[in-house]
Amino acid sequence: MKRREFLGKVGGSLATVAAGGAVVSACGGSQKAASGEAGPAISTQKKIRWRLASSFPRSLDTIFGAAEVLAERVHAMTDGNFDIKVYPGGELVPGLQVLDAVQNETVQIGQSCSYYYTGKNPVLAFDTCVPFGMTARQQAAWLGEGGGGALLGKVFSDFGIRSFPSGNTGAQMGGWFKREIGGLADLKGLKMRIPGLGGDVMSALGASVQVIAGGEIYPALERGAIDATEWVGPYDDEKLGFHKVAKNYYYPGWWEPGPSMSIYVGEKAWSSLPKTYQEILKTAISEAGTEMQRRYDARNPAALTRILDSGVTLRPFSDDLMAGALDASRQILEDHAAKDPGYAEIYEHWKKARSEQFKFFSTAELAYARFAYPAG
Ligand code: CA
Repeated sequence: MKRREFLGKVGGSLATVAAGGAVVSACGGSQKAASGEAGPAISTQKKIRWRLASSFPRSLDTIFGAAEVLAERVHAMTDGNFDIKVYPGGELVPGLQVLDAVQNETVQIGQSCSYYYTGKNPVLAFDTCVPFGMTARQQAAWLGEGGGGALLGKVFSDFGIRSFPSGNTGAQMGGWFKREIGGLADLKGLKMRIPGLGGDVMSALGASVQVIAGGEIYPALERGAIDATEWVGPYDDEKLGFHKVAKNYYYPGWWEPGPSMSIYVGEKAWSSLPKTYQEILKTAISEAGTEMQRRYDARNPAALTRILDSGVTLRPFSDDLMAGALDASRQILEDHAAKDPGYAEIYEHWKKARSEQFKFFSTAELAYARFAYPAG
């Protein structure tokens, strides 16, 4: 890079180029500039202000908390020069319009779940999870290393955004049922709050599916407007108090075995970042995602103990319910694939990865869990 261009990139920052290629910043730091394309090293001085719109409320301190971790890490790694202000769902834009807000450049960055946007393209569900899909680790492997993220990246580029996986809840619980569900037949007419593809499957199995926003679920369950609800897992569920009004806590949440959360960055915003900031942002996104999973895994066990101490009974879904749900789930995915070649391409890729993952995880992981978990 020519010296004039180099200084141009530095813009109004307080840096000087010393002899020998070392870059000395006004705050006393010294970085050795790479030979050739030397620009990025110095551009850590560039002041950037971004706004992050999250789909989630502050009360979800596990998920929303990860967006705060992301902003704090970026701030710390750039001496405060790259500043991301984080807004909970509904403050800048409605929680379910975060993708739109990044696409429209209302904000530069967003935190959301891609399965909220299946109305735009049903294949986006694979960026988060689908019923009977992969677990958190398997989904992360497919998205990050297995080619899934690259395939989905082409879909996201239609919206002018990049999607980075950032965190996971782990396998969710099946949720709260006022009465016992003996088997598949007991789902007939059951009024259950369950959104998304899980709701489509429950509906195919005879349940009367309701979609109710987070804050309205508890009163609906309490007064009997619904018989059952799903949410996340012990730590988040406890905060909403479901254990006070429904005493049967079912598992597993086969519709969300490992939902991956996403950080969206607008293409334009991304390209405007100096390379160093892009690397810092990627690092912070990854760290925030790890922190989210760590918080869930640290907090869920204690929350489950408290919930059970309050008189709740833990129950597994019956085998016939699980088998019926698996069949119905497969049918729904196959139907989407039959209608749309773009969907089919990603579905087939996902199916192969899932099959390989399941085969491998059926060895050491499963054998260990089967023996050691019940033994305590
Ligand atoms: Ca859920």
